[in-house]
Amino acid sequence: MSTQPQAFLPYALPEIGEEEITEVVDALRSGWITTGPKARQFEHDFSAFLGDSSLHSLAVNSATAGLHLALEGLGVGPGDEVITTTHTFTATAEVVRYLGADVRLVDIDPATLCIDPKLVEAAITPRTKAIMPVHYAGLAADMPAILAIAQRHGLKVVEDAAHALPSTQGGRLIGTLDSDATVFSFYANKTMTTGEGGMLVTRDAELAQRARVMRLHGMNRDAFDRFTAKVPSWYYEVVAPGFKYNLTDIAAAMGLHQLKKVRAFQQRRAAIAARFDMAFAGLPLITPPGPAAGDLHAWHLYALRLGKDAAITRDRFIESLFEQGIGCSVHYIPLHLHPYWRDRYQLQAAQFPHSQLAYERLISLPIYTRMSDADVDRVIAAVRRALGG
Ligand SMILES: *Cc1c(COP(=O)(O)O)cnc(C)c1O
Repeated sequence: MSTQPQAFLPYALPEIGEEEITEVVDALRSGWITTGPKARQFEHDFSAFLGDSSLHSLAVNSATAGLHLALEGLGVGPGDEVITTTHTFTATAEVVRYLGADVRLVDIDPATLCIDPKLVEAAITPRTKAIMPVHYAGLAADMPAILAIAQRHGLKVVEDAAHALPSTQGGRLIGTLDSDATVFSFYANKTMTTGEGGMLVTRDAELAQRARVMRLHGMNRDAFDRFTAKVPSWYYEVVAPGFKYNLTDIAAAMGLHQLKKVRAFQQRRAAIAARFDMAFAGLPLITPPGPAAGDLHAWHLYALRLGKDAAITRDRFIESLFEQGIGCSVHYIPLHLHPYWRDRYQLQAAQFPHSQLAYERLISLPIYTRMSDADVDRVIAAVRRALGG
């Protein structure tokens, strides 16, 4: 057997084509490098992609910014509580603290690793203002149940869809469901990228208007619309202490072309996931759940769990993969284990048994469009060897 060392296979890589490069260069040469025509086009194309003309799409410089703007626009503030899952990236929860509100973390459904709606309902108090489900790995959370709870209790719903482009539920794209806002991420390792970037999507015209103002220093551009002819172009009014969350045209240039490819990207990711599923059947592993029949899973992550009968710890498994030249990761170290969240809310692992158990057995394998079939086979072989096969 050949023992020729192979190049390290990274955990994630973006797929950037000549189209993106040419468009970025076009932005650079145009003299307009910050928010301008390409960002506006990207927003327009994003709404068109979602296929719902009642949607407002706002390009922002991260999903974190978009989540912050959504909650701010929905009036979340001091004294309020927002319910989300412990099994997420800290960005989901930190934006609640930016606004001086408090986070109520709940456990996941052990089958899907998405927030458990029954626990959401049990966590509601008179202070609860909003629910933030996360579509973990790109699999839609149980939105019918979450939206029904929100309606019963008069709560807002903001979807953290950082993993979920293009995912569907009941045949509808995430972003077009009946929540108050949905936020996508275009971070470097997400299912499409602008380097850094995000998109806030809402049907709520008032929220969209507030987020548009708060996205850029709280500068009210209505002055332009109302008195275009009378007000000189240097004039603006600051109506709130806003943020600096606008997406540059350099980033939007990438987004224009990534968006055109995002369905093809999803197909490649789904094909890799199917190949993994097939190869891992019969091994002491829990493969990630697929989407409901007829629905799309964005497959941002392929989050495998070691089975109870696996003769190796998660940490040793990851070491073995690295020794075999395969990058991998863990999604997530649950929020209840991080010092800030643990100490602020006096959290204990026993409160989140499903997230805790999942965490102890989780490994995210590489799953990205630039992987060849040979790369996928290499990952499969490394997994088998790590398990002692
Ligand atoms: C990546 C990610 C975010 C943050 O996205 P940014 O664009 O980097 O701000 C938020 N939530 C989840 C679940 C994520 O994976």
